[in-house]
Amino acid sequence: MTRTTPPRPVDFVTVFPELAPLARTAIRLHPRPGRPSMHDSSVGGPLLWPATEPWPYCHTDDHHVAMSPESDGPIAMVPVAQLYVRDVPGLPLPEGSDLLQVLWCPFEHDNDGLPKTVLFWRSAATVTDVLVEPPQPADFAPDLAPEPCLINPEQVIEYPRSAELERELGSRVAQWTMPQIPGVEFDVEEVDVPYDFLCTAPGWKIGGFVRWGMQDPYPNPCPTCGTPTEPLLTIASEEWDSFDKDYWVPFEDQAANIAWGDIQGGPSGPTRICVSDVNDQIIRVCPTSHEHPHIQMMQ
Ligand SMILES: [Zn+2]
Ligand SMILES: [Zn+2]
Repeated sequence: MTRTTPPRPVDFVTVFPELAPLARTAIRLHPRPGRPSMHDSSVGGPLLWPATEPWPYCHTDDHHVAMSPESDGPIAMVPVAQLYVRDVPGLPLPEGSDLLQVLWCPFEHDNDGLPKTVLFWRSAATVTDVLVEPPQPADFAPDLAPEPCLINPEQVIEYPRSAELERELGSRVAQWTMPQIPGVEFDVEEVDVPYDFLCTAPGWKIGGFVRWGMQDPYPNPCPTCGTPTEPLLTIASEEWDSFDKDYWVPFEDQAANIAWGDIQGGPSGPTRICVSDVNDQIIRVCPTSHEHPHIQMMQ
């Protein structure tokens, strides 16, 4: 199954040529409920995990009090995403690996309000003896247990949100209102900056730009070397919201989206997760070395 994002109603580079060198390719993952195996790319599916390697556990005691585990002791982490590069061309992988696995502790943590994540890069061919029954956490926050989904990756071009642009360009972009585009109307009462709703994709994705909105953009340097980190994986509570839905719902989902509306389990909420009040959790990595620790942020 493929998923196809409708073309942007305007070519931004025609209107603002200065955006051209800033373009980035993002890969929308388009997770949809299914029955992935450990040999599939998935969200919330089983992992190709070596039987000889310890399963990751969370040992911290800073779980948010409103949703903390009832039992004491380490918590088995749960699969969030498994991505094979054959399914996600352009996935930035260390040399010699072809598989990214992301797990999290299924509770919010007080230090950043997010589930704690761990990343593993592997060569699938080296995993010959596979763990068949991975540990499960004794309990978990229901909103942080992703529904098993297969993915339908699609490459899209993104540009930075206006707040992330150099000031003069950012203010010109922010004032642009698309009066000249037939058939395109925004409710100006609700959408201050139409460009911001069109330049970066919502939903689960690899790479691309952050949908800044909760805060103004702030630096996210690598804790080891200080290089600015880049978004690797966006874990999204929604594939699109009520503002996005006229522009980001794949053609293949448009009829179902009208039927379901914006509810969990429908096309806009296929993974049934909710990160801290319907936000995105963005995992960022250092472009200079995969051995430097990842960081994460909420937006
Ligand atoms: Zn934890
Ligand atoms: Zn670094």
